[in-house]
Amino acid sequence: MRHIAVIGSGPAGYYTAEACQRLWGDVVRVDIIDRLPVPFGLIRSGVAPDHQSIKGVSRRYEAVALTDNIRFVGNVTIGRDVSIEELRGLYDAVVLATGAPHDRKLDIAGAELPGVVGSAALVGWYNGHPDYAELAPPLAGPGAVIIGHGNVALDVARVLAKAQQEFAGSDIVAHALAALDAATIDTITLLGRRGPHQIAMTTKEVAELNDLARAAPVIDPADLPPIEDDAQLDTGHRKVMAQLRAYAARGDSPKPIRIVFDFYAMPVAIEGGDRVQGVRVERTRLDEDGHAVGTGETYTIPASLVVSCVGYRTPPIEGVPYDDSAGRFANDEGRVGPGLYAVGWARRGPTGTIGTNRPDGYAIVEKIAADIGEGGGKSGRPALDSLLAERGVDVVTFRDWQKIETAEVAAARADAPREKFTTVEAMLAAREG
Ligand code: NAP
Repeated sequence: MRHIAVIGSGPAGYYTAEACQRLWGDVVRVDIIDRLPVPFGLIRSGVAPDHQSIKGVSRRYEAVALTDNIRFVGNVTIGRDVSIEELRGLYDAVVLATGAPHDRKLDIAGAELPGVVGSAALVGWYNGHPDYAELAPPLAGPGAVIIGHGNVALDVARVLAKAQQEFAGSDIVAHALAALDAATIDTITLLGRRGPHQIAMTTKEVAELNDLARAAPVIDPADLPPIEDDAQLDTGHRKVMAQLRAYAARGDSPKPIRIVFDFYAMPVAIEGGDRVQGVRVERTRLDEDGHAVGTGETYTIPASLVVSCVGYRTPPIEGVPYDDSAGRFANDEGRVGPGLYAVGWARRGPTGTIGTNRPDGYAIVEKIAADIGEGGGKSGRPALDSLLAERGVDVVTFRDWQKIETAEVAAARADAPREKFTTVEAMLAAREG
């Protein structure tokens, strides 16, 4: 028997468990440990609430979770309830699949002012993550600035811009729906420090701005490079450019909310007194290596809300080697140390789609198999259960989660799949039925 512990129940965690099952069948036991009483990590708390088809992948993880040899061990915090060292003693392999749930810091003056929030916090707020349920972002407008030209920046812009009825079918939490309904933001500026050819957004996501009820994208045609230059791009980027060009050609829209793409625009300071009032921006040009360099020309964009969408970091765990500049665990293609591995964003940083984590999960299990060989046979699951019972840890099982989910579905608005519990206490109470 092989005993594997996976820390984190997001996509990377579940694909790793699935790969263990495919490889070892009945002779493996996988425990997927999560600090929350609810599974699925990024799928529940990161993917936008109006992207239900992407969230639907959790049904596949559920199929994995409902097999005899895979367990969800929820409400267990590493470092508080059990340490990595203890897990390494109990399991043949420990796989860190903790994702990258913390914001990369925006390293400019004024970034700590009230009204400046990171995307992990804002996305967590509208997705009902217990850590951010109390965020209460300032939405009284008129200006919001979003820093970054990636898909997360687009998610945030779209959610801020949507009218109430456009959230039908989504699982945005009630507190966010009410706050967004009362919002008076009319200009959302997406700040990119480089140009349209360097944009990190993808076609389908950019195209979603086409259909918004009360908001329209605004692009100055003068910001776009000559069309013949698009030929040097890969197919994906060429399609994004075609969409941006279509938006630029459209001109002014009568819709009341403007989503303004500002290119070659690097934030250099957040301005304000006791709270944010604007973002000081420096115009840039690209150097030979494609990096943004300031031109000295600056201007200020008024804003009462600034959302920094500049990437994420994996929180360190005591005793686990950490690469501070990359913001993830130090690893050699997933190997962190004897019996200790990293997978997904915790291994490679916050890049790629949900699906990228599947080959990642399968690859790490191959490495584990090569390292264990015919060995293995540590005490695993029963020993963890005794340890957690001794410490009085209130473990949440997958069956418990199903009761929580049933309660969330029962509490849903008429047009929503669920109304999420936003505190750990409420989640735990919902197990009782
Ligand atoms: P991302 O794609 O890496 O984009 C980060 C953006 O922030 C880039 O435009 C980057 O500009 C900019 N940036 C970084 N540091 C900056 C700074 N100091 N000042 C100004 N701008 C800065 O990251 P993400 O948007 O967080 O997305 C993470 C991953 O999740 C991506 O792979 C993304 O595609 C994926 N995702 C997918 C979806 C979807 O498929 N629907 C939705 C959300 C996220 P530079 O290019 O100049 O560095």
